[in-house]
Amino acid sequence: MFRQVSKLTVFKQSVRHFSKTPLACSAGKYPNGFNFELNDTQKEIQELARKFVREEIIPVAAEHDRTGKYPWEIIKKAWALGLTNNHIPAHVGGMEGSVFDGCLVAEELGYGCTGIMTALEASGLGQTPVVLAGNKEQQKKYLGRLLEEPIVAAYGVTEPGAGSDVNGVKTKAVKKGKEWILNGQKMWITNGGVANWYFVLARTNPDPKAPASNAFTGFIVEREWEGVNPGRKEINMGQRASDTRGITFEDVRIPEENILIGEGAGFKIAMMTFDKTRPPVAAGAVGLARRCLDEATRYALERKTFGVPIAAHQAVSFLLADMAIGVDTARLSYQKAAWETDNGIKNTLQASIAKCYAADVANKCATDAVQVFGGNGFNSEYPVEKLMRDAKIYQIYEGTAQIQRLIVSREIIGRAKQQLS
Ligand SMILES: Cc1cc2nc3c(=O)[nH]c(=O)nc-3n(C[C@H](O)[C@H](O)[C@H](O)COP(=O)(O)OP(=O)(O)OC[C@H]3O[C@@H](n4cnc5c(N)ncnc54)[C@H](O)[C@@H]3O)c2cc1C
Repeated sequence: MFRQVSKLTVFKQSVRHFSKTPLACSAGKYPNGFNFELNDTQKEIQELARKFVREEIIPVAAEHDRTGKYPWEIIKKAWALGLTNNHIPAHVGGMEGSVFDGCLVAEELGYGCTGIMTALEASGLGQTPVVLAGNKEQQKKYLGRLLEEPIVAAYGVTEPGAGSDVNGVKTKAVKKGKEWILNGQKMWITNGGVANWYFVLARTNPDPKAPASNAFTGFIVEREWEGVNPGRKEINMGQRASDTRGITFEDVRIPEENILIGEGAGFKIAMMTFDKTRPPVAAGAVGLARRCLDEATRYALERKTFGVPIAAHQAVSFLLADMAIGVDTARLSYQKAAWETDNGIKNTLQASIAKCYAADVANKCATDAVQVFGGNGFNSEYPVEKLMRDAKIYQIYEGTAQIQRLIVSREIIGRAKQQLS
């Protein structure tokens, strides 16, 4: 049977080899142990993704934005090239790539179209709880399935009444014999209507005062099970290629073996997932910001006012300079967050810094790119209007801009208190 990685044996092996090799130690020519150069494998991955974006995504991105059509064709091609499912463990047959390498791909995809990137990235978000907390059988069954054919997963935590405040999740699962019966409603689930299976967080402790740390359980729920009902595709401001839906669960029977870790472990799994997934989300935002910079620079060299290209006006060139500063520093930030987690360093602080900062940079770059385009920037015939609509969600999903600042402030204040005590 054809499996995703079989086409990429050599590539996969080198990716896997690298994933065990910390970046800072990988290049012998930098004896101080710190360098900013990608190794050869990473350059190959980046180039592969860049070429894919140039040839397969950029030509169709505007069409997907206009129609909202889900990018199955692109997902199939990305899957065949090994640009998806990067982090699936080797024992299942996956590449077991590093978060850092995943980020390199995410930045390129984000450059092409963040709507399409989100469709791909949300599958990684759905898989991560199973990568982190699944047992060997669960990984083989559900992650292995994603290597057999180009299908996607989804992450189902948010509800109509519970977004930032995950503790407010009302979807509940009740044990009945060897099964759990799931009832409730999720909202804003990316890939909600197209996923083959979902990670679902549900309340399993009936005591409303139970602490979040043992009130919730994480389940793997299959799309085809009776009682799983995705709603209509939401019409969003941007990233319209992505599929966002509510899902209702009505007496869904979940076998016991689909619990991750055990009863009560769900909240922790849902939260630790973000340490792995926020760096690639930040990388996608950097890709978008870089696209803004490139589009605005090109336009500023072509468009003339007062007899000179607008790039010659310092006010315009400084907008470009600010974009470049944002792209460069936001990239360093997500790379550090990815590097930390790949090297076993707890990266909650850095992942939130990277996600928060890259989201703000993407939004500033998009607004400024529209400014550089003048009236044309406000028009859908030009690319920057889409970039501005697409950028906004980076300050909302995977933890809002405010929630990231909450995490950063808690982390730094906690560390300061520890030092003082
Ligand atoms: C397109 C899209 C895709 C998504 N994909 C997924 C997905 O795949 N899976 C999933 O589970 N969820 C997904 N989400 C949900 C997303 O993560 C939530 O929308 C987000 O966490 C915010 O929750 P909320 O919408 O309920 O806003 P709320 O939590 O109601 O927040 C409203 C406002 O209040 C602010 N706020 C809230 N609490 C505080 C606080 N303590 N301090 C300061 N400010 C605060 C927020 O920052 C925000 O500005 C998606 C959302 C969208 C729009």
